[in-house]
Order: sequence, then structure tokens, then C-alpha cells
Amino acid sequence: MAPQIKYTKLFIDNEWVDSVSGKTFETISPGDGFVITSVAEGDKADVDLAVAAARRAFHRNSEWRLMDASQRGELLRKFADLVERDYKYIAELESYDNGLVLGKALAFIQGAVKSIKYFASLADKIQGTTIPSDGDVFSYTLRQPVGVCALILPWNVPVLMYVNKICSALAAGCTAVVKPAEQTPLTALYLTALLAEAGLPKGVVNVINGYGETAGVALTHHPHVAKISFTGSLEVGKLIQQAAGANNLKRVTLELGGKSPLVIMDDADLSLAVPYAANGVFLHQGQICVAASRLFVQSTIYDKFVEAAIQYAKNIKIGSPSDPKTEHGPQVDELMMKKVLNYIETGKKEGAKLVLGGKRVGAKGYYIEPTIFTNVTDDMTIAKEEIFGPVQSILKFDTLEEVIDRANETNFGLASGIFTSNLNNALQYSKHVESGVVWVNLYLGGGVQTPFGGYKESGIGRENGINSLDPYLEVKTVTIAQSKKF
Ligand code: NAD
Repeated sequence: MAPQIKYTKLFIDNEWVDSVSGKTFETISPGDGFVITSVAEGDKADVDLAVAAARRAFHRNSEWRLMDASQRGELLRKFADLVERDYKYIAELESYDNGLVLGKALAFIQGAVKSIKYFASLADKIQGTTIPSDGDVFSYTLRQPVGVCALILPWNVPVLMYVNKICSALAAGCTAVVKPAEQTPLTALYLTALLAEAGLPKGVVNVINGYGETAGVALTHHPHVAKISFTGSLEVGKLIQQAAGANNLKRVTLELGGKSPLVIMDDADLSLAVPYAANGVFLHQGQICVAASRLFVQSTIYDKFVEAAIQYAKNIKIGSPSDPKTEHGPQVDELMMKKVLNYIETGKKEGAKLVLGGKRVGAKGYYIEPTIFTNVTDDMTIAKEEIFGPVQSILKFDTLEEVIDRANETNFGLASGIFTSNLNNALQYSKHVESGVVWVNLYLGGGVQTPFGGYKESGIGRENGINSLDPYLEVKTVTIAQSKKF
């Protein structure tokens, strides 16, 4: 049974409100293509109200600014408890709105609870330093929240994106306006209701549903927004960086796309490498930024690996995302499905060999078969562009030196991996591959404690880990004259 929808409006100053224009837009269930509900559609007028509320909440005398840091942590801990209380409902909602298969959604929400607790524990550990500066002075630093943050979310893993960004901002003491992706607004709204239930003061978190070109643009150009944290496509990331400098100078962190290389050496344990490589690209139907979308296999084991990869992918169970047994659900919407199918056609035309899948499944919902291409070469479109779909492209290489250069031959640099039983191979690859994350003998590992982000055009800054609060903080140096050195 479909989960009940509880929140569809905008959230400003702790009130659920319609948009100023009264407009709404529909959110669609990718599993069957049906409309789930209509949500309020915010644009510039609503963004102005939300930013004003966030600014009031950031005033030096506000409840939020006067709250002890440990209390901010306590609030986040309560939020974690509420997410834990409702995790099944939240997972069902995520699955319904986004198409993430239920089994994974349950695991992701449990991961989100851990993340919230992690950030909760950081809130009262933000501290400055005392500095032995020159002269008859005493110097120290304060680390203070930057102000109102615009948190702009993608559709692919909405709960995790919401949690990472909102918890970093709140732990640091900032206030926020969140703009969920237009395809998947529902879990962000529900999580915000839980934050309010946890005792969030008025105006600290506001949510404006809406489109990028309207609500997103208004937010990124707003002169009272101090910082933007954006996760999404490279194309929009570039626009965000320009917008950040248009009316003031916003701090910007960007988590963008990838074309991540995964290398399988001939000394690898294939019983691990095959499933990790498949999961690395087929998880969430390929709609993850770190998808292992360039799979380099050493020529000596190429044919054997391809055979095992096909056997593995053949058995992935396709079905409705709400069925707990489903392993492979739909793409997020019709547009993305068509885009991915188009990449598959391009792959065929450019001479890659389609050895598995390649077609839409059924006529209802947006399902694409797990797809494998072999004989892929570096110059092919499917080896260069982010597909964001269930397409495994298998390339051949001879030596480690060669594959490191080829792995780096991309404008992206988000994640990478290597399977090998030789420690020197692993160390050499890890040192020279140009990516923010390297996985050795696994793919997709590590938790909220480990910094995450991209080299090159995969982004700017890191989320997760202790230093993820830095972009939400200013460093203020205070120097006090002393009558003499003592
Ligand atoms: P997108 O760039 O189309 O949209 C992301 C968000 O930006 C949405 O909320 C959208 O409404 C908004 N937006 C669009 N145009 C805007 C504008 N001009 N100004 C302000 N906001 C605007 O991305 P998407 O399709 O939702 O997400 C998929 C992309 O996200 C993929 O490229 C994926 O790799 C990337 N991603 C990266 C990470 C990471 O951590 N590096 C994580 C998840 C997704």
C-alpha cells in the first residue's frame, strides 16, 4: 500500500504555507508513472520570505544564536531519534517518490540516523585557538557560523543529501533554506516536520519546493544568503558558482557528477570483484554520483571477467521498488529513462558490444534492464559522459601505469577503485588516481566519518568527516592589546 502523504506545502518560519503564487506542481511515482500528489511551488517571492525568516533566526539575539552548542547537538539527537522512530515510513516514502528499492531505502535511512548522530556529536566541539602572535598582544580565534545557507538537493538520494547538509549547517549554528529537487520533494518535507517536532526554533530551517530555474536561481542570487551547498550536475554547479558572485560573495561547496574508474587487476579475487563492480554501477539503477561507470579489466582476465559479470547481472531481480525482494527498480522519471536509453543507442552506434540488457522493461514506470557493454574504448561517449543509469562499460587494459593515466583522462574526479592482491599496486594506484575517494578491494565503503567530495570538475569541498563543518564557519581573529608583555 502506498504511504500516506502528510506534508505538501512550503515550510517558512515553522509554518506550513501555500506559495505566494498559489501554484503547485505534481510529483510522480517512478514505479508506475502515476501522480503521487501536488506540492506547493515556490519561486522568488517565497524564497524572499524564507530567507528573511532564516535571517531573523540568525539575529544575534535570537533563540537559535543564544542556544548552547551542546543544546544544538541535543536537538539533532532528538531529530535522530524521530527519524529512527519513523524510519520504515520514511523509507517507504523515499522509495515511492524516488524509485529507490525498499530494501536499500531502509538501509539508507538507518545510515542517515547514524549521520545525524555523528553531526550532533560535533556541535559542541567547534573551537578556536589561542595564538602566540608577535608584539604586546593576545590573539585568539573564534569559529562562527557563516549565516543563512542555501542547501540545494538533487533527486537521487534525497534523504541522505538532506541529512548531510542540514546537520552540518545546524551543528555549525547556521540557519538554512532548503530546496529539494523538483522530482523528489516529499522526504525533505517529512524530515523537516521531524526537525520541528524535535524543537527547532522558528525560521532556522525553511523549505521551498520548486524548480531550479525559479526557486533555485532566486536562492543562489539572494544577497542575504551567505553560503550555498549544492549537490547536483556539473552543468548546474557551474551556474551556481557564477550566481554566487552575482550579488554578494557566497561561500560555495559543490558535490557534482562523476565518471568513476574501477580497475580490476589480474591478481584480484574475482569472487569479490565481480559483485562489487556490479553493485558499484547498478546500485539505485546507476543513479549514484560515484557509479563505477568505467570498469577497466586487465586483458589477461578480460573474457573470464566479462562472462562472470554477465552471469551476475542476469540474476538481478527487476521489479517494483516497493517490493522488498526487488533489487533493481525504475529510473527516477521519463526524461532520465529516455536519456539513458539514448546513451545505450549511442554506445551501440559507436561500436561498443552490447552483451546484456539495453532495453526498457514494461510500459508502465521507467525501468531499464541492467546493461553491459564490452569492447568499450576511451573515446566513446559512454566512456566519457555521466550516464546516470544501469550501464556497465567494460574497458580493457594491459599495465597499471597505462590504466592510471587512462583513469585520469577525464574532467571528473569523484571516486575510484581497484581490486588487486598486490599491496604495491594498491598503493601506487591510490596515490596517483585523481579522485576524492579511492576504494581498495571494495567499492562503496566508509561512513559519515570519512570526507567525501571530488577532484577536478566533480566538485569543490568535502562533505562528511570532522572538517565538513568548516565551510559553514568563519574564522575570526581577535587581537587584544596588552599593556606590556607578561
Ligand atoms: P541537477 O543539477 O539537475 O539538480 C540539482 C538541484 O539543483 C535541483 O534541486 C534543481 O532544482 C536545482 N537547480 C537546477 N538548476 C538550477 C539553477 N540554475 N540554480 C539553482 N538551482 C538549480 O542534478 P540532479 O539531476 O538532481 O542530480 C543528479 C546529479 O547530481 C548527477 O550529476 C550526480 O552525479 C550528482 N550528484 C552528486 C553527488 C555528490 O556527492 N558528488 C551526490 C548525488 C548526486
